[in-house]
Amino acid sequence: MIANKEIEKLIQLRHNLHANPELSGQENQTAKQLINFLKTLKPDQIIQGLGGNGFALVFRGKTKGKRILFRADMDALPIQEKSELSYSSKNAGVAHLCGHDGHSTILAGFARLLNEKRPEKGEVVLLFQPAEETGQGALQVINDPKFERIKPDIAFALHNLPGFEQHTVVLREQTFAAASVGIKIRFTGRTAHASQPETGLSPATALARLMLQLEQLKKQWEAEKDFKLLTITHAKLGKEAFGTAPGEAFCWITIRSFKDETLDDMQQQCLELAKINAEENQLEIHSSSHEPFAATVNDPQLTKIVEKAAIQNHLQTHYLAIPFKWSEDFGQFGSFGPIALFGLGSGKNHPALHNPDFDFPDELIPTGIKLFDSICREITDL
Ligand SMILES: [Zn+2]
Ligand SMILES: [Zn+2]
Repeated sequence: MIANKEIEKLIQLRHNLHANPELSGQENQTAKQLINFLKTLKPDQIIQGLGGNGFALVFRGKTKGKRILFRADMDALPIQEKSELSYSSKNAGVAHLCGHDGHSTILAGFARLLNEKRPEKGEVVLLFQPAEETGQGALQVINDPKFERIKPDIAFALHNLPGFEQHTVVLREQTFAAASVGIKIRFTGRTAHASQPETGLSPATALARLMLQLEQLKKQWEAEKDFKLLTITHAKLGKEAFGTAPGEAFCWITIRSFKDETLDDMQQQCLELAKINAEENQLEIHSSSHEPFAATVNDPQLTKIVEKAAIQNHLQTHYLAIPFKWSEDFGQFGSFGPIALFGLGSGKNHPALHNPDFDFPDELIPTGIKLFDSICREITDL
């Protein structure tokens, strides 16, 4: 169905994207490269500058019907790649270690298929989304006034998944990936000369106690039936100096749960602990939330459509017993209608996502395109 020459072109595109990775929110050249690759196509609409560097292609069918959106993410990570690849990252400290180069290539390949054979009914939107890794991209796209033109009735996305046999379609009805949020806590006291610490106000005790209490809370949550996870990701006290007693401390925490409501309660509990420590030590406290991800909750019926597409393409399927502990901002599209996110196995022993030696397997490019195509035809063909 997809000619070898076409696959070669797509692999070339993927390698170009891989060699020129850009961080979340900075995917300017990535978007340009993709648009350039798609420039000979004749979609009914191209919408650029969506929520930053995002863009979308719209293909309309002959008759009215549902608007179905397929999403790919485009951003890379602030990690130094360690690889011997001929197309390894040219940007120091930035690399495509989550396979978003591959996801974008799959969507670009699907665009070329749609261009040749449009859907019979309804409308197909292909969304190239920025800033997935920071959890901001989906919301930025949704909050963009131009989103009104592509607001979906149904939405699908895929993510490659190391740890599963290559080409296995990984499914789950209901929650697929966790909700998460980062919390920054800052204690402010007063610096002093290290020889006269009594003239200042050090947040050292408050920080140390808070960290121990958070570790305690983490253990308590681990013992509960519902999944709740807390990770202290960063902490800092004062400046790197021997002459000054510290006047400021920071503690960063990431919390995760399979339910959005549970996450709110967890955040309150963490902040309560921080407040108590600030009061006991007469410190000022400031807190803020960052990179919030809603839980990705799949629609059971759409999951069945993905399963059917997998069977049509003679692919193995695997139903997950529990959701993934990581988060995906694709969950945000669930506010407009049913959604389904599914996994595509990258290989049982493939390096894990975000590992410095991860590279998206090119073999998944035709598989991803065929799956999107089968899903799309199932819904849009008369
Ligand atoms: Zn990632
Ligand atoms: Zn990813």
